[in-house]
Amino acid sequence: MTQVATQTQLIDRFGRRVNYVRMSITDRCDFRCVYCMDEEMVFMPRQQLLSLEEIVLLIGAFAELGVEKVRVTGGEPLVRKNVDWLFKELGDLKQTTALKELTITTNGSQLPKYAESLVKSGVDRINISLDSLKAARFKALTRTGDLNGVLKGIESAKKAGFKRIKLNAVIMKGRNEDEIVDLARFAIENDLDISYIEEMPLGHVTHDRSESYCSSDEVKAVLESEFELQPSLANTGGPSRYYQLKGTGSKVGFISPHSHNFCESCNRVRVTTEGRLLLCLGQEHSVDLRDILRRYPGDKARLKQAIIDSMEIKPKGHDFNVREQPVIFRHMSVTGG
Ligand code: SAM
Ligand code: SF4
Repeated sequence: MTQVATQTQLIDRFGRRVNYVRMSITDRCDFRCVYCMDEEMVFMPRQQLLSLEEIVLLIGAFAELGVEKVRVTGGEPLVRKNVDWLFKELGDLKQTTALKELTITTNGSQLPKYAESLVKSGVDRINISLDSLKAARFKALTRTGDLNGVLKGIESAKKAGFKRIKLNAVIMKGRNEDEIVDLARFAIENDLDISYIEEMPLGHVTHDRSESYCSSDEVKAVLESEFELQPSLANTGGPSRYYQLKGTGSKVGFISPHSHNFCESCNRVRVTTEGRLLLCLGQEHSVDLRDILRRYPGDKARLKQAIIDSMEIKPKGHDFNVREQPVIFRHMSVTGG
C-alpha cells in the first residue's frame, strides 16, 4: 500500500529501514583507476548532472524522512566546482533534520586544499582510497594519480581533525596483493582504519576481472599471518565486517559483496550523478528523481512522496558473479562508490 508523505521513516517491503544515502555528485575524476574506469571515458554533459542546489534539496528531503547518514562520493567529489558550498549546506542540515553523520569518500588528491573546510562544514568521517605505497605502481593503478599528492592529502586530513579517517584499498591479484600487510602497517602507524575491498564487476574495464579478483577471505588470511584480528562490534549495516588489529588503535574492514551476502541488513540507497535513485548497487531498480526535481521545482512534498514510494521496489538482494562481466554496465564512478 502506498504510504503518505507525513511519515518520517523509510521502511521497505522487507521491513528494512533505510537511513543511509550515498550521493554521487560527479562522474568526473582526476584519476582513472584500472578497476573503476576505462582508459577512455565519456563523461556526462553537465546539464544532465544534478545542480548543487538540487542536491541540497534532495538530501534535505531524505533527511526529513529519517536519513541519518549521508556519504558524498563520485567520481571524485572534490573536483566538482563549488563543492565547499555544497558541504556547508549539507552540514547545516544536521541542525534542522535527522541527519547526524556527513561523510565523504575521496581519492585524497584535493585534500590539501579542502580538508580544513570539510571539517568546518561538519564532515565527520572521511574515507581515502589508497591501493599502493609504491609510487610507480600507484601511477599504474590510477593511470594519472600521484602517490605523493595523496600522502600529502592524508596528512592534511589528519591535521584537520576528522572524527575518524579510513583508508580503502581494492586488492587485485598480480597488481597489489603483495602490499596487504604494508597497507595495514601504514594505517597503524598513522592511527587510521583500513578496509579491503573486493573488486566488483561494475562497468567495462580493460583487464579480465575474473583473473584479478582477490577474495576477502584470502586478504584476511594474509593479515592473520602478521596480526591478531579481534571481531569488532562496529557495523555499518553494509557489506563490511570489522576487526580490531590487536594492540593497535586501528580497525580493519572487509567489503565483500561477492563472498558474503549482506543484503538482509541493507540500510542504504544510492543517488547517481544524474539524480537516479538506485535501490540496490547490483540491480537496475531505480526512480528518476531529477525528472521530479526539474518538472516540479521546489516541490519537496512531491519529492518525498516519490522517495517513500520507491521503498516498494527496493529489491531483496543481488548476486554478483565476477565470471559474468560486467553484471552492471554502470561504472562505479557514476553509481557512487
Ligand atoms: N574517487 C573517490 C575514491 O576513489 O575514493 C570516490 C569514488 S570511488 C568510485 C569509491 C570507492 O570505490 C573507492 O574506494 C574505489 O576504490 C572503489 N571502487 C571503484 N570501482 C570499484 C570496483 N569496480 N570494485 C570495487 N571497488 C571499486
Ligand atoms: Fe576516480 Fe575514485 Fe574511480 Fe579511482 S576509484 S577512478 S579515484 S572515482
